[in-house]
Amino acid sequence: TSREEKHEFKAEVSALLRLVTNSLYTNREIFLRELVSNASDALDKARFQGLTDTKLRDRHEKPQIKVTADHGRGVLTIEDTGVGMTRDEIALNLGTIAHSGTLKFMEQARAQQESGQKPDVNLIGQFGVGFYSAFMVADRIDVTSLSAAEGAEPVHWSSTGDGTFSVGPGERTTRGTTIELHLKAEAKEFLDRWKIEGIIKRYSNYVVHPILLKVVDDKGNTEVDGKQVNDATAFWMRPARELTDADYNEFYKHVMGGFVLPGDEPLGHLHLHADAPIQFVALLYIPGKPPADLFQEDRKALQLYARRVVVMESCDKLLPGYLRFVRGLVDSEDLPLNVSREMLQEHSRSPRSAASSPARCSSCSRASPRTSPRPTRRSGTTTAPSSRRASTPTARTTTTSSSCCATAPPRTTRPSRWRSTSRRCPRASRPSTTSPASRWPRWPAARTSRPAARGYQVLYMADPIDEWVVQDLSEYKGKKLISVTQGDLDIPEDDQHKHDAGAIAAAVDKSKELLTDKVKDVRVSKRLRESAACLVDDSGGLSRNMERILKMARQ
Ligand code: ADP
Ligand code: MG
Repeated sequence: TSREEKHEFKAEVSALLRLVTNSLYTNREIFLRELVSNASDALDKARFQGLTDTKLRDRHEKPQIKVTADHGRGVLTIEDTGVGMTRDEIALNLGTIAHSGTLKFMEQARAQQESGQKPDVNLIGQFGVGFYSAFMVADRIDVTSLSAAEGAEPVHWSSTGDGTFSVGPGERTTRGTTIELHLKAEAKEFLDRWKIEGIIKRYSNYVVHPILLKVVDDKGNTEVDGKQVNDATAFWMRPARELTDADYNEFYKHVMGGFVLPGDEPLGHLHLHADAPIQFVALLYIPGKPPADLFQEDRKALQLYARRVVVMESCDKLLPGYLRFVRGLVDSEDLPLNVSREMLQEHSRSPRSAASSPARCSSCSRASPRTSPRPTRRSGTTTAPSSRRASTPTARTTTTSSSCCATAPPRTTRPSRWRSTSRRCPRASRPSTTSPASRWPRWPAARTSRPAARGYQVLYMADPIDEWVVQDLSEYKGKKLISVTQGDLDIPEDDQHKHDAGAIAAAVDKSKELLTDKVKDVRVSKRLRESAACLVDDSGGLSRNMERILKMARQ
């Protein structure tokens, strides 16, 4: 229809908007990064579609993003010449939440709220909550869009962020999208020319499309028009010798979506220019901390470009699974632009090109074994036998006391620290045992104290990936790994357990009676030292840690 229609936001959007509009936050400026990134995505899509679709509307339209600050109207406008949106698309895209980062942010905020905390809205910058973040600064947003699709009509979307939005006919003659932000009284600073330039430079400098600035003062005079604010060059095409570590760290922010917490700077980078067998540039980073989505199916992998155009936002075929923590991009001169996932797999040349970078990449991470993301290193032991051989000796985990370290003198005096598998092996004079330790549930330290006190070395396997690691790596150099949290532990008796058998049996019977539908069995344990009781998993069944992981993965 061509009439104006009122819609209600989906429940999660309303919740997000309430959070965004009613809280105080220090990082409001990220709204501009989000809108510019949407504009840039829309331009990429248009460029991409225009390559194959000769009938695409305004096929030769110049790709650009225009930011206009109108002091007279108090309106900040972000306009692009991208693919635009149809009426159906606009109602769907700007009425629901599809972006996984946004949903995660919502989940976290909800969890904080439920546990009685005030949600930390400053996390917003970390997650990138997309379009809706503009309601941090605007009390009304008008979007006008004309889709590049054949036969599409211009549409207008409007909302004050209060639970509903309207969609109706709009006015636009060329394809693209205009977003008008009617700035809140306390957000008028975002009309300031220097402020806008600063934000764009900080977050969007490497957006490959030009971002042009126009400023109109409150008397209607144009102060600036068409000034390009960003670099708009492909950073990775610059020769490595011209770039400093600071430059790379700056670009890393762009790779990570514009936000990197202090201390999370990359541990290293690899900038490759290859000419054979295929011509490509790869810029790979080892993140400063394991990415949060590491074990999720839709995790973010390397970006794939073909001649400076994004052809795949996240391509997990470029690196072997055990290097899944690596972030960055590959830009190929030889790939067809309409490359599909299937084609990429079959493309005989790309595996070879990929193979050369992971090899160098793992050597790059081996160079700093003490600082590399540990769980991801250990994840290497769960893949193909060939890569297991390569990655096992470099895997790191924590272990109990290291006083009898025979081969490698301690470099720190901390009682437990990260050790490589190969280093810790000479110590394993008795069978090693594994234990899910601290991080997830806070289990009492006493849990592991008996095996440890009996001289067994306990490895703390607290990361999700460890479940797979211990399954695939059931032994190492002849030492068997046994879980201290699962089933019966065959540890020799000691004096502590020579108690009155009758009294213990009575206590067990009473416990069984009280816990009848809560636990499967109650047994006398040999594994405890300082605590009275502990919960263990059924041997053979799923460990509780694994259950937790599977539950998490399903969410
Ligand atoms: P994300 O960009 O992560 O998908 P956003 O909330 O930023 O999430 O945007 C939601 C969707 O709205 C986008 O995926 C896109 O389909 C659409 N969209 C937003 N801005 C534009 C734009 N300027 N041009 C075309 N589509 C847009
Ligand atoms: Mg977005």
